[in-house]
Formats: sequence, C-alpha cells, structure tokens
Amino acid sequence: MQNNNKRREALLYHAKPTPGKIQVVPTKKYATQRDLSLAYSPGVAEPCLEIAKDVNNVYKYTAKGNLVAVITNGTAVLGLGDIGPEASKPVMEGKGLLFKIFSDIDVFDIEVGTKDIEEFIATVKNIAPTFGGINLEDIKAPESFEIERRLVEELDIPIMHDDQHGTAIISSAALLNALELAQKDISKVKVVVSGAGSAALACANLYALLGVKEENVYMFDVNGLLTTCREDISDLQKRYAKSCDPAPLSEIIKGADVFLGLSVGNILTPEMLLTMANDPIVFAMANPVPEIDYNVAINTREDIIMATGRSDYPNQVNNVLGFPYIFRGALDVRAKKINETMKMAAVHALAELAKTPVPEQVNIAYGEKKLIFGRDYIIPKPFDPRLISTISPAVAKAAIASGVAQYEIQDWDKYADELLE
Ligand code: NAP
Ligand code: MG
Repeated sequence: MQNNNKRREALLYHAKPTPGKIQVVPTKKYATQRDLSLAYSPGVAEPCLEIAKDVNNVYKYTAKGNLVAVITNGTAVLGLGDIGPEASKPVMEGKGLLFKIFSDIDVFDIEVGTKDIEEFIATVKNIAPTFGGINLEDIKAPESFEIERRLVEELDIPIMHDDQHGTAIISSAALLNALELAQKDISKVKVVVSGAGSAALACANLYALLGVKEENVYMFDVNGLLTTCREDISDLQKRYAKSCDPAPLSEIIKGADVFLGLSVGNILTPEMLLTMANDPIVFAMANPVPEIDYNVAINTREDIIMATGRSDYPNQVNNVLGFPYIFRGALDVRAKKINETMKMAAVHALAELAKTPVPEQVNIAYGEKKLIFGRDYIIPKPFDPRLISTISPAVAKAAIASGVAQYEIQDWDKYADELLE
C-alpha cells in the first residue's frame, strides 16, 4: 500500500483539473460555417464516397492510420488482478498517454464488459474498422493467448498483446546484452523461469527464437517445475515441460546462467543465487516486489547482471521502450500484423542502441554522470529520443521484408527525420 501522501497525489493527478488523462482534439479548422460544412454535411460526403469506392482511402481521409485501440476486459490489471473494466480505465488511459507522448499515436481506450472469449473477440472484430492497430492489454492468461491468436488470424491490422510481447521484446534485448557482457553463448545457457503465465511464456518463446535451447529452459508455476507428468499444465506450457522429476527451484537453479522472474516477489533466495553459474543474469520482474530484492542480490553476488521491472534501480525492463515505436513502425507501413520478424527487429534495434554513446540530455534526464554500456546499463532509458528513430524504422523495414507491409517507405532518412519532429 502506498503512503497517504502518494495516494492523495495520485488521486488528485487523475481528478483535476479534468477527470482522466486524455481528450479528443480536432485537427481541422472549425471557426466558420464553411469549415463546418466541410467537416460535416455536406462536404463530408465526398470522402465517404471515396472510401466506399476503395476502402484503402480510409487511410487517406480519416484518422484510422494513426489510431490505436488499447483494449482490455480488466481481468489482469497491473499487479491488481481482476478488478473489472471500469477500474482498469486509468491504466488504459495511461497507456494512451504514453503512446501519444512517445510516438504521437492517438489512442481510444476501450474497456469491454465481458470475460467470455468469444464475446470479447466478436466485440474487438466488430470495432476494428475504426482502428489502424490494436493493443490488447491486461487480459488474463490463458484467455489472452486464444484471444490474441484468433484476432491476429482473423484481422489484417497490427495486433499485439503488450503484456506478453512487449515484455518479451524488451527483456530479450536485455538478455542479448547481458550475455555479451557475461561472454556466454546463447545456445548453451541454462535458463530458469519462475512463472509460467502470459509474460513468462512469451519471453521464453522469444528467447527460443533468439537461440536459447528449449531443453535448457526450466519453468516453474505456483505448483512447481513444469513436468510431463503434470496434468494441470496447458499445451503452451508443455513445450517447456521436463521429465517427471519434480525438483524444487533450489535444486534446478544450481549452475543456471539466467534466472527470469515473472511470478511473485521473494522467490529467489540469496542462498539460491550463490549456487548460480559465474556472472549470473537475474531478471527479477515481478511487480512491485521482485523475485529477489535488488540490493540483496547485488550484495550477494558481485558478478551479477541484474534487471527488474522497477524504475528505482538500473536496467528497468519497461514496456514503454517498445510498444510506442513498434506500433509506429507497423502503422507507417500499414502492416497487416506484428510478426516475429518485426519483434526480432525491435529486439536487435533496442539491444544495439544500448551500446552506442548516450546523448547528454539522457544523462541529465536521469541525473546520471555518464550512462555507458555495462552491467548497470544493458537497455536504453525511456527518455532516450533515439528510440523512435531507431526502433520504428527497424520494425517498418522488417514488415516490408517479411511481406506484411501494404505501404512502402521510399526515403528512410527522411522517415527517420520526420519521426524526430
Ligand atoms: P500471470 O499470467 O498471472 O502469470 C503469473 C505466473 O506466476 C503464473 O504462471 C503463476 O502460476 C506463477 N506463480 C505464482 N506464484 C508463484 C510462485 N510462488 N512460484 C512460481 N510461480 C508462481 O501474470 P503475468 O502477466 O505473466 O505477470 C507476472 C508478473 O510479472 C507480475 O508480477 C507482473 O507485474 C510482472 N511483469 C513485469 C513486467 C515488467 O517488468 N516489464 C512485464 C510483465 C509482467 P499459476 O498459474 O500456477 O498460478
Ligand atoms: Mg499491462
């Protein structure tokens, strides 16, 4: 529970001067009768007819191409759980704010009042014509998997469940850089995952694409190690199930190169950390309490490379490093989906950016003397202005190369310049 002052400050921020965090603002003139006759009847009929003739004209004459729906049913909101659609709205408005400030994408937040998979899918499909893209948010597993799979299959606009793939993309970039610092080969590392939910599975799947061997991934849920003997595990989890020996975390963690925590706080003890391999990579991302406390961890192992989900420690795995720019790139080439090639492009762009010299304004924004690639800086910071001009073009190029783009960008230098405006 936050202290009283912080609580009051947060409530006041949301309530005043206008309730909520976003509003709709016209982009055309509306001062005269003539303006209004263009904005609405009779002038508006002209673009309607053009779009009726060719549906692609919707991108030319309406805001669709820059409009993303942030859609939830409020069943897995932050660390707050199933709090319902209305209670999730501040989070979805917050996501809208982040999209706007980091990549100038407009968002309608949509809170849907159903937990039924079919009803939810039908709702999203029915409103999809409004949007250039769909960011699924805070929908509980396993429903989130089926919902995303079906929508990606059945719609032809970019769709991403950010709690899964955003986390996977950012932590993958962190993983590549951590492995480089530890001088370890991705195809040989032993990875222990605490958590087998939305985020953990998406991360493990992307790590596998990057080269981690499935047989080297050991995954735990609340009932322990995933094994082939367990009848309570899903088909998606079976990919990582091991033979029927239900060893505890304290056993499996021995000699592990990577610990990935996407479960609950204080699961990894200092004793366990001591048994990990040299230069252990620990991503303890349960929020707000990580699987192991940052200070405890760095005082236990000098050779640790650590990331968390928190902003008050180095190496925050923060989804805001991804979704604004991934959608920007996808929208700008009218990608029909956000595929694995585009996700990998985002991973590599992000990882590479962390290795280039940091602009002074970023050091200033974070009160740092000199951020430099190393154990305390394996992923870029959210206020790095180069994120947009690095990630969005990489994602857009990957969309074109993988055949899902419906619009070609001709001049990439000009595109990158425009992104920075
Ligand atoms: P989720 O789908 O509910 O998954 C949670 C998983 O943790 C489930 O597999 C659950 O097992 C498992 N679990 C619960 N207690 C456990 C225990 N004592 N030991 C081992 N596993 C346990 O949630 P999620 O969306 O994946 O998120 C998981 C955590 O990661 C949350 O704390 C979330 O805030 C955090 N997260 C952080 C970031 C970030 O920092 N960027 C991003 C995404 C998520 P059962 O299913 O068997 O209960
Ligand atoms: Mg979320």
